[in-house]
Amino acid sequence: MSADAGRPAFVDLHTHSTASDGTLAPEGVIEAAKRCGLTALALTDHDTIDGVHVARSEGDRLGVRVIAGVELSAVQDEHEVHLLALHLTHLEALEKRLSELRASRYTRAQKIVEKLNSLGIPLTLDEVLQQANGGAVGRPHVARALIARGVVHDFRDAFVKYLGNSGSAFVAKEHFSIEDAIAIAHEAGALAIWAHPGDGGRRERLEPLIAAGLDGLEIKHPSHSSEDIKRLQALADFFNLVPSGGSDWHGAPDGSRRLGIMNIPAEWLQQQDERVASIASSTSAP
Ligand code: AMP
Ligand code: ZN
Ligand code: FE
Ligand code: FE
Repeated sequence: MSADAGRPAFVDLHTHSTASDGTLAPEGVIEAAKRCGLTALALTDHDTIDGVHVARSEGDRLGVRVIAGVELSAVQDEHEVHLLALHLTHLEALEKRLSELRASRYTRAQKIVEKLNSLGIPLTLDEVLQQANGGAVGRPHVARALIARGVVHDFRDAFVKYLGNSGSAFVAKEHFSIEDAIAIAHEAGALAIWAHPGDGGRRERLEPLIAAGLDGLEIKHPSHSSEDIKRLQALADFFNLVPSGGSDWHGAPDGSRRLGIMNIPAEWLQQQDERVASIASSTSAP
């Protein structure tokens, strides 16, 4: 598949919008994909599919294929694992599960604000919610509210001092078990893809996920070293997992996570389409 004769087609299968903690509205993400020359883009907001419908109609208008996705956080033993559910089809059934997760994000934001208050920082929940502007609230919104108040200089400062795992106002998110997250992806008709496995993407951690039904691996991600990419590609080939990849773009105009930066070949998306089709035909009644 190629966009123009002789020019390879590229896609980006991991992006965020204002529906969660990205800075661009879903239609802005699609416009940026068009400008980059991407033929397809997966919108994968954290715990929400609120951006998908708008992204789809903008994609139809501009000729960019939009894949419906969501990024879920789960735990495997003591590790946090992110799972991309890609190619969602049963959006209504999924929405109920996701609305519960978003409610727990709200409670967590309250707890983070309480911790910050007890440290002498008079941040209010309203300031955080203003940053989220109705989207699934997360730590980046707290970081932006702290920056707006002049408490910290930048994101890095906010996460190191307060919001990161070792920060003084850290509050863990409510997590699914990885088995539940994979089952939710499948119930929604999606492929379950292990997002940015990084150095942890090794056979001993992968095998239990495959037993739980994992379909694919995010091989290319800005956080991956060239060794990670090689190892993950070999694991995907060995275990017959579909390849995926993307920039994890949150709307920043520069830095390592820029839209399209991972040059994901359209062939990877085609392999995913084939996997979706083969699952659908094997589960449909004879
Ligand atoms: P949450 O889903 O609320 O736990 O927030 C996770 C998001 O916070 C990630 O998707 C990143 O966008 C951002 N994030 C996490 N850790 C850091 C960090 N150390 N520095 C900057 N951003 C971070
Ligand atoms: Zn994010
Ligand atoms: Fe992630
Ligand atoms: Fe992400």
